[in-house]
Amino acid sequence: MNLPSFKARGATYFNLKIACPVCHDNGRNVPSSFWVHGADGGEIYVGDDAHYQCKLCEYHEHVKNWRYGCPEHSGAELECLEASSQGVAQAVSTAGQLVSATGQKWLIRFLENMGEF
Ligand SMILES: [Zn+2]
Ligand SMILES: [Zn+2]
Repeated sequence: MNLPSFKARGATYFNLKIACPVCHDNGRNVPSSFWVHGADGGEIYVGDDAHYQCKLCEYHEHVKNWRYGCPEHSGAELECLEASSQGVAQAVSTAGQLVSATGQKWLIRFLENMGEF
C-alpha cells in the first residue's frame, strides 16, 4: 500500500482515514478523517497489532484503551468517549485505503489482535 507507514514492535503502522467509532456506535454516519493525538496534535497511526501510535510523541496503546473526541459527538465540552470493539472494527474495516490485497491481510491481523472489548 502506498501510504505513510512505519514499523514498530514487529507491526506495521499506517496513517489511515477512519470514521469516528463512537459515532458509529451511536448510529451516526460521519465522514472519515485522519485522527490526531489529543495530547499534542500528532498524527495517529494504526498498527496490525491493534495499537494506535502517535507519530509525534510515539505514545502507543491498544485500541481498547483509547477515547475518541470528534465534532459530532463531543460538543463544546470536547468530551472524549470509549468506543465498542464493533465500532472500532467497523471504522477501521471501512478505511478506504485497505482495499488492496496487502491491506486485507493487514486488516485480518488487526481484527485478530483487537479481540472483543
Ligand atoms: Zn464521534
Ligand atoms: Zn502524541
